[in-house]
Amino acid sequence: MFFNLISTKPLKAFSGFIKRRSDQTLRDAVWSLWGEIILADLKNINIMQSQNNQPRVIIIGGGFAGLELAKKLRGTIFDVILFDKQNFHTFQPLLYQVATGGLRIESIAYPFRKIFRKSKNVAFRMEEVMAVHPSRNQIVTASDRLSYDYLVVATGSQSNFFNFTPVQKMLMPLKNSRDALHLRSFILQNFEKANVSADEELREELINVAIVGGGPTGVELAGAIAEMKKYVFPQDFPQMDVEQMRIILFEAAPKLLGPMSEEASEHALKYLKEFGVEVHLNSMVDDYDGKVLKTKDGEVLRTNTVIWTAGVKGAFPDGFPKHCVAPAHRLKVDQFNRLEGFANIYALGDAAAMVDEGLPKGHPMLATVALQQARNLAQNLVKQIKNKSPQPFEYKDKGTMATIGRNRAVVDLPRWKFQGKLAWFVWIFVHIFSLIGFRNKLAALWDWAYNFFTYDRAVQLIITPFERSKNVPHVDSEKTRKQEKVTTE
Ligand SMILES: Cc1cc2nc3c(=O)[nH]c(=O)nc-3n(C[C@H](O)[C@H](O)[C@H](O)COP(=O)(O)OP(=O)(O)OC[C@H]3O[C@@H](n4cnc5c(N)ncnc54)[C@H](O)[C@@H]3O)c2cc1C
Repeated sequence: MFFNLISTKPLKAFSGFIKRRSDQTLRDAVWSLWGEIILADLKNINIMQSQNNQPRVIIIGGGFAGLELAKKLRGTIFDVILFDKQNFHTFQPLLYQVATGGLRIESIAYPFRKIFRKSKNVAFRMEEVMAVHPSRNQIVTASDRLSYDYLVVATGSQSNFFNFTPVQKMLMPLKNSRDALHLRSFILQNFEKANVSADEELREELINVAIVGGGPTGVELAGAIAEMKKYVFPQDFPQMDVEQMRIILFEAAPKLLGPMSEEASEHALKYLKEFGVEVHLNSMVDDYDGKVLKTKDGEVLRTNTVIWTAGVKGAFPDGFPKHCVAPAHRLKVDQFNRLEGFANIYALGDAAAMVDEGLPKGHPMLATVALQQARNLAQNLVKQIKNKSPQPFEYKDKGTMATIGRNRAVVDLPRWKFQGKLAWFVWIFVHIFSLIGFRNKLAALWDWAYNFFTYDRAVQLIITPFERSKNVPHVDSEKTRKQEKVTTE
């Protein structure tokens, strides 16, 4: 560790040491001085390098990209520090299963510390990185400033509410574990309230669900909620006329599952209709006041629950120059995932836009892209240390899939597209296989088997009731930043 001795705080600490010297033993006083220097300057002084002079890699974000990179750098020459706001990795593709009671959150989340228990060169810190100082090679958290040799930004994405930002508190996004648990509570709470309400209009408002956005998340969520309407709610609320519940999916484009094939899109539409979901294509949501949703084509729906899956944009800490930011608020990177204009900063996954002629918006925001970029960067960092040429990133599309309720899914492989029951089994197998940890795989398999054979849902608990009026803005970092008043320059 090297400290910036230009600061005057160590001198003040030293004068304190001299004053107290008379009533302390020399050894205690030396330790006291050392402690005071560290404490006095913890917030201001640069902690330059790792103690053993290994090149330090700071990874911000332990999602698909950041976690994979940290895993691949285990046992290498690098001193790796992985930062995340949460102490666990979330398998986002199954969030909708948590939101609809099909899986417990513990099955799709895994603590970072468990993963890196035996890794000597990888440390984890549960802290939000608030800002980056590229000119000083530093990152800033609420408690610390830390220097890096290489910085990797893998902070993912956040919901993009577009012109609905002013009313975003009233919308239910699905981007993280907190959102999924809120949504599960909200749907169940609304049914409980409707069950005891004599007001017909209010009941309608409480049980109807609107989903905005017909991409994979919107389609999967609509299918899962329709399954609850068909199999779960009639058993749990026998006094209610559950048939009155409307589930409406609004999509502004002329087809569902935009990035997937025509076959996939048509089958998804057919499956959703069979389940009783009302699908409105070419339909733009225009207004929502917390009770009534209106579309540009004149549709009016009374509902308390509007699930927002209509858009995402990149998320990253403050401090990057404007020229680094690409459309959709992602960081512009070259074919080695290196940030434009910087030799030692990289961005991966959803936060990064590798723009070229064929990809004007960068790669799609997919877990597979994030994982592949992380693996390529891990190899390139090691190559760089050995003075070898880095390998440009090339995305290998291994296919996409989406499931719509029990027994129905659509799968697009590069050379084969199929739908129905086989696709559903493939979907189950791929997702079980992809979960981290044997316990999580087993727990998910158990819950799915339970749901399948009983036509029920494994998890229907309202642990922390969701209060929309207390809903914090989705981008919680903005709030934290204001509170902490972090000076970035
Ligand atoms: C509901 C849903 C379903 C999806 N389904 C699929 C699917 O079926 N197939 C598919 O391929 N993709 C799917 N995706 C997309 C996929 O999950 C993302 O593309 C992928 O997670 C991107 O990985 P990432 O590492 O870039 O970011 P993320 O996985 O989002 O990870 C970002 C991490 O950074 C942390 N973080 C953010 N900011 C900070 C900060 N300032 N300081 C510290 N930590 C920070 C976050 O806590 C998070 O852990 C889905 C996404 C969602 C939301």
